[in-house]
Amino acid sequence: MDFRLSSDQALLKSTARKLSEERFRASAFKWKGEYPAANEKILRDQGFFAVSLPQEYGGGGLTLLEELLVLEEVGRVCPDTASALTLAGPPRIIAEIGSESLKRRYLPGFCREGKKIGIAISEAEAGSAVTELRTKARAESGKVILDGGKIFISHADVCAAFLTFVRFEEGIGAVLIDEGTPGLELGKPDINMAGHRQYTLFFDGCEIPEENVLTRGENGFKRLIQAFNAERCLSAAWAVSIALCAFDFAVEYARDRKQFGRRIGDFQGIRWMLAEMAMKIEAARLLTYQAATDSTRLKSSMAKAMASEMVEKVSSDALQIFGAYGYIREHPLEYLYRLARGRKIAGGTLEVQKNMMGDELLRKGFHKEE
Ligand SMILES: Cc1cc2nc3c(=O)[nH]c(=O)nc-3n(C[C@H](O)[C@H](O)[C@H](O)COP(=O)(O)OP(=O)(O)OC[C@H]3O[C@@H](n4cnc5c(N)ncnc54)[C@H](O)[C@@H]3O)c2cc1C
Repeated sequence: MDFRLSSDQALLKSTARKLSEERFRASAFKWKGEYPAANEKILRDQGFFAVSLPQEYGGGGLTLLEELLVLEEVGRVCPDTASALTLAGPPRIIAEIGSESLKRRYLPGFCREGKKIGIAISEAEAGSAVTELRTKARAESGKVILDGGKIFISHADVCAAFLTFVRFEEGIGAVLIDEGTPGLELGKPDINMAGHRQYTLFFDGCEIPEENVLTRGENGFKRLIQAFNAERCLSAAWAVSIALCAFDFAVEYARDRKQFGRRIGDFQGIRWMLAEMAMKIEAARLLTYQAATDSTRLKSSMAKAMASEMVEKVSSDALQIFGAYGYIREHPLEYLYRLARGRKIAGGTLEVQKNMMGDELLRKGFHKEE
């Protein structure tokens, strides 16, 4: 077991860091809920977008771990720009379980032109209980017709398509719905605590070609859930990057701010806080790297759960180090704290991650799943 990065990985990380400092530092914390489209283009032009998607469809052909290394460096400087990199999740699912025709239709557009694919799962009566979703899909002479709706969909206004969970006659599956399809409508967005828009989608007799079915049938739902392991790793890595961003601000402030004639970093209370923050970040980071190289349900849920709890605590402690300055609206720490809070809810709540871990542990025991 070697915890060190290879020289290529270290170079990738330092290049992503340099690009982020040079191109994203100045605009960080200025996005005000807008999708960072200009920065996404820079990432694409510089080969830092779709890093782990297959090369034959325009991706970088690297591993998930390498994708996370880039995400971490970008997010450490500008968490909003890193959120663009988390959108690699749905295309990765298509790459993993989609037909050749779906891969050819959706992956090059994402990798080369940034045609994003939203993820549409949540419904009013089906949040954690995904199996209770009601959006119906029925096949009819080579078409699939959809009726129902989704809520809380992130980035829906900038998506070219939606990977949507639906109920077929035989059970849950997923389809791809292109933006602009007749019968698909975006509702008025809700604004979340971090200031980001989350949309309602309505499907009213929305007709898609049968080839847009990503998965259905007996094992359709199981395959879908398995393909979500990488999505959880991306989510965990984003949380780690937000925590690193908060930590960097805090440590710099602890070096500069003076009270009682000394820099606050000289007080043991602050030093221990920094030490605790760094320990927690490192633990979550290692779990995330591990899950990226061995994407099982247990390990990806562990990484996501740990990272989501960690980022809430770390961003709160970082804000504490800033005192009232960090609590002022528009201060980076105030934003990071609000952003961090969503991590225990989005993409499967902390409790749901723990339920999944519990299932796996009861079925297979611990360290026996290999
Ligand atoms: C920032 C953000 C972005 C999001 N983006 C998207 C998106 O792009 N697409 C999308 O489809 N959805 C998205 N969501 C929605 C998200 O997936 C859901 O909020 C989440 O799955 C939980 O569903 P819910 O909010 O309805 O909570 P509920 O499922 O109603 O849960 C309420 C509470 O009960 C707990 N709970 C529920 N069941 C159990 C159980 N069995 N055991 C223990 N505790 C339980 C939950 O953990 C939670 O604390 C987003 C949410 C956030 C916050």
